[in-house]
Amino acid sequence: MRPPILLLADPDSPNRFAGYLEEMLRMEGIAWLEVTRDLESDQALPPLVMVTAMYLPDDVAERLAAYVRGGGALLSARPAANLTRALGLPPARLLPEEWSSRYVLLDPGSEMVAGLPWAEGGVQFMGRPTALLPDAGEDAYTAPGVVAWIAPFPGQRSRFPAVTAHQIGAGRVVLFAFDPAESAVRQQQGRPEQSSTGALPDFDGDTTYRPSDLFLGQLDPALKDVPQADVQRTLLLRAVEWLTESQPLPRLWRFPANAPAAAFFDGDSDAMDLEDFHNALSICDRYDAPFATYLKPEAVELVDASAEAAARARGHRFGPHPWAGPQPTVEELRGALEANCAVFAARYGYRPRIHRGHWLVWPGWVDHARSLQGVGIEMDANYTAGWGFKGGYVNGTGLPARFVDEDGKSLDVYEQSTISTDDGWLLPKGGLPAHTLAQAISRSYDMIDAAVERYHTVYHPYFHPRPLKGGGAIPYPTRPWLDSILAHCRLRGIPYLDAERWLDWNIARRGVTLTTLHQTESGVECSLHAAKAIDELTVLLPLPLNSTAVAVAGSGGGGNHIVRRHGRLYASTVVSLRAGEELVVSLATVST
Ligand SMILES: [Zn+2]
Repeated sequence: MRPPILLLADPDSPNRFAGYLEEMLRMEGIAWLEVTRDLESDQALPPLVMVTAMYLPDDVAERLAAYVRGGGALLSARPAANLTRALGLPPARLLPEEWSSRYVLLDPGSEMVAGLPWAEGGVQFMGRPTALLPDAGEDAYTAPGVVAWIAPFPGQRSRFPAVTAHQIGAGRVVLFAFDPAESAVRQQQGRPEQSSTGALPDFDGDTTYRPSDLFLGQLDPALKDVPQADVQRTLLLRAVEWLTESQPLPRLWRFPANAPAAAFFDGDSDAMDLEDFHNALSICDRYDAPFATYLKPEAVELVDASAEAAARARGHRFGPHPWAGPQPTVEELRGALEANCAVFAARYGYRPRIHRGHWLVWPGWVDHARSLQGVGIEMDANYTAGWGFKGGYVNGTGLPARFVDEDGKSLDVYEQSTISTDDGWLLPKGGLPAHTLAQAISRSYDMIDAAVERYHTVYHPYFHPRPLKGGGAIPYPTRPWLDSILAHCRLRGIPYLDAERWLDWNIARRGVTLTTLHQTESGVECSLHAAKAIDELTVLLPLPLNSTAVAVAGSGGGGNHIVRRHGRLYASTVVSLRAGEELVVSLATVST
């Protein structure tokens, strides 16, 4: 079967991150796409064509417009002028540079984005937008088809749309004025020029190179607790769902077993003794919650192989915690990382897969991610709010996101950003006053609740084992905080993640392909093929906006439900696949 989505992307485009649209779909469990640079002249087009921000020859623009008029569905990121002209829409011209990196406000009248979690004053986009004029003169604000608006400042709507939706002939079109792919990369990885190897190293002036340097001056502190890249990816999904409304596409949900969110607990070995080490694990054991500890070389000396193995058998995970000073070169920190990994592997008999560096040190923009990949690390947890933020989604996402290099190529290293820190919150760090323990617990509950109800993302705090029992620089024992949030996660019914199984599950989910897809009277029947075994995979199918469905009939043994995700209803079923297995999955709704 040809995939139902065709993505037009030009690997030589000067827009180096335009092709990241593919990665955005894969992150959301839509791997059924074909990527091509040129359209073959006799190529039949699938139900959905997505065009990245790229130059299009006139004949391709004309052909895409004819495909739309004949019933096709087209999404274009920052459309070329010849494409809007061919579609009979007002010409798209680049807005002045000063319109770059502003805010997106949803249109309250747009059905496409109804119920989508958003920030009241808008969510930031990155990059330079084009002018998609609704061509309605004085009535621009009530023009049909505007899904979202560009706002120069929070809450201040301009007359330039950010996203528009159009019926043209028998087909549909969605246009993004900015490039959602470039926006996502810049939101998730920050400004290269503010890295240690850029023109403005140590941007916050704290004499330490950290990921937070990359986001200062870019991330609006008022929006730090909103995973902005996640909600914008969900806006893209809403566009895909509207475009494929007559032939809905299944997707694979973010978490195992249809969970609405998940929690990941970890901490760094700094100055811990063996009692601290066992204390952290035993607190988490009471909830069957895995805890990941990043071990400095001296902590590897402290924890012997049998203690490591016993903890590992209970689901706890370990990685290195290298240190080469606060302002190392890329090479210096790589050397310390290699040495820490070598000591680790010699002591425990396996190569570590997860990592956080001491003091969160991060030389270069993506250089240190390359160093991590070089030693076999697959998941990093360095991205944490610093100066001016005090917690939150510094890189706009709570989901594991693969790093992208300067050329837009993805690395096999995921960032799993850390959204709260014991020392960062309880000390007057980052230029902001300390939280009291009560404030820290209360804000943590809010973050967990938002992850479950609104954002469907990973709640990821860190706790150093040492201060759990009190003493040292932090004014309170942190144990009551850790205990409270472990309990709150259980109360909210979200799973605690084992870092390595979480990695494996995400890799396996990306390896699931769609081999057949048929629309049925009230749903779909499709076949899924798994390259690697995967448990408790949830298949979602969007329900029509005014659906009267009351139940789901699905093939999954793990339960069939109607679920609300990001303010919209989906039919869902849970299935498990063995490596190499092909499984027929049916999903249908039952109405009153
Ligand atoms: Zn440390």
